[in-house]
Amino acid sequence: MRFLEKIFQDISAQTLPSACIVCERHQQDVICGDCLKSLGSNCLLNYECCFQCGIALRTSELHTQKCESCTNNPPYFDKTYCLDRYEGSLQNALHQLKYQKRLAYAHGLANAWNQLFAIQLKDIDASHLLPVPLSTEKLLTRGFNQSWEIARKIDCGLGIRKTPFLLKRHHHKTQQVGGKISARRLAIRNVFYLDPCFIESLDGQSIIIFDDVMTTGATLNEIARLLKDNGASHVINWVLLRTARAPYV
Ligand SMILES: [Zn+2]
Ligand SMILES: [Zn+2]
Repeated sequence: MRFLEKIFQDISAQTLPSACIVCERHQQDVICGDCLKSLGSNCLLNYECCFQCGIALRTSELHTQKCESCTNNPPYFDKTYCLDRYEGSLQNALHQLKYQKRLAYAHGLANAWNQLFAIQLKDIDASHLLPVPLSTEKLLTRGFNQSWEIARKIDCGLGIRKTPFLLKRHHHKTQQVGGKISARRLAIRNVFYLDPCFIESLDGQSIIIFDDVMTTGATLNEIARLLKDNGASHVINWVLLRTARAPYV
């Protein structure tokens, strides 16, 4: 009996948070009131961001509400909504989910999203919400897709179908780390494909893509290109954490 109890406790410790996902203080809620308040006051939502790619705007870009990169080289996606910066207070919680495989952190992250962001997004109309997929190989290694684990718990309109298997990803040995935007766009080309059974359902529809982290936007741009090539009319990104843009060089 003791042995079974120990197993249960070990599993619980790995899967259920008994502390706030941000400050890690022991308490009942998955994110405590203080951390939620602080996140609400400091997160990216409070800043003027490019409507197309979600990056915080420079003063010179405020009049168009669009960053220089989207003006000069427009991406395929139409809009991007980001909760916070990658460097902000949710980064550790996301790492706990992705790298320590603590699935309950997905619940905490979705909870933060729902409390701070869901009302703002509730009127967005779309037919599908798709998580950015992992390749089958990566899925087997990690055991779950972190974007889907968060996306499945976030609040969205009743007419939006959350569909985890519509969009699929080939396995590539090289990981995307750093590099110029143009090089990353080239590297990501043709990495994604669609389940043929669902392609007809995309025709003329708005599609939401959910990603845990947006860096250069190359991945989301390639997904938007694929969806629009297959009939989607609009592609909207919902992103948990957005990295800051590279400084001027
Ligand atoms: Zn806290
Ligand atoms: Zn932009």
